[in-house]
Amino acid sequence: APRVLSGIQPTADSFHLGNYLGALRQWVAMQDSHDAFYCVVDLHAITVEHDPAVLRRRTKVAAAQLFAMGVDPERATVFVQSHVPEHAELAWVLGCLTGFGEAGRMTQFKDKSSKQGTAGTSVGLFTYPILQAADILLYTPEPGPDGRALRVPVGEDQRQHLELTRTLAGRFNHRFGETFVLPEAFIPEDAAKITDLQEPTAKMSKSASSPQGIIDVLEDPGPMRKKIMRAVTDTGSEVVYDEEKKAGVTNLLRIYSALEGTSVADLEARYAGAGYGQFKKDLAQVVLDTFTPIRERTLMLLDDEEQLDRLLAQGAVRASHVASRTMETVRERVGFVGLGSGG
Ligand code: ATP
Ligand code: MG
Repeated sequence: APRVLSGIQPTADSFHLGNYLGALRQWVAMQDSHDAFYCVVDLHAITVEHDPAVLRRRTKVAAAQLFAMGVDPERATVFVQSHVPEHAELAWVLGCLTGFGEAGRMTQFKDKSSKQGTAGTSVGLFTYPILQAADILLYTPEPGPDGRALRVPVGEDQRQHLELTRTLAGRFNHRFGETFVLPEAFIPEDAAKITDLQEPTAKMSKSASSPQGIIDVLEDPGPMRKKIMRAVTDTGSEVVYDEEKKAGVTNLLRIYSALEGTSVADLEARYAGAGYGQFKKDLAQVVLDTFTPIRERTLMLLDDEEQLDRLLAQGAVRASHVASRTMETVRERVGFVGLGSGG
């Protein structure tokens, strides 16, 4: 099976509906068709100021949510980035192959650093895409008879980073010999982009959405229902899909369709003449039915911390197996002296 690699940052107390419909639900599906590697990227999470105890908790909550959503620790390799030190090591080597100007052209850095100002911006935030390139290339097969391209699911916001990864892989190959098959962007067909419930033209986001605009996977049922009932719609009353004139209703239709597996056209027909109230009430139920079991399983997993740690240790062993072999090749090709048998 082709290999897939994806990562998610433990930067919030819960994943949100956008993460679920735009990424994590596909993680569950892809474990059947792929050799899947899923990483909770805690090294990336410290590129902005953080609290150590909060990071530790969020990393575990993130992993627990993945398992609770149906990522299977037997079929997929689920691991924490800092458990595999080769990520940081390869990032150093790749950083030495990256031009300063080249890194400076990354638009996500420009956006984030302009919001925080240069004084509040770390060098880690600047080199973030290089660490991401290392995350990807560690699991990238060598060219050869079984050297199939690694697939990397990417949203629009990550395209430029994957492009940089391919550039760096090509540069490494050119300088030091064929080492990496260039990874490929992969867009799962049912990935849906979800917008903010209060600001339906902006994306639902951990860092930018207000609490009223975002639905957390681990949220209590009461507030969850209320947020959907209070989601911004528009002055009309027809439940119809119209990205431009009815961005709010359109977002709700997209959520409903994705969660229930019903086409938007069928939903429009079902709610013809029914008004927004009934539509939202039913949608709230669909969201609750999806997330309640996930919340309960997450809490159960967090209750048994030893078991969760065991699952992550198992993932770390499997990821290290691949990453350490890649890194051995890289060290050798770059010209680092091997430790020898006396080491
Ligand atoms: P931040 O605001 O800190 O960037 P985020 O909410 O965008 O956080 P990420 O951790 O950046 O979340 O994204 C994790 C995954 O979820 C990525 O694959 C991203 O493309 C996807 N994703 C994030 N927000 C949405 C959304 N609103 N709709 C669909 N997919 C989303
Ligand atoms: Mg994001």
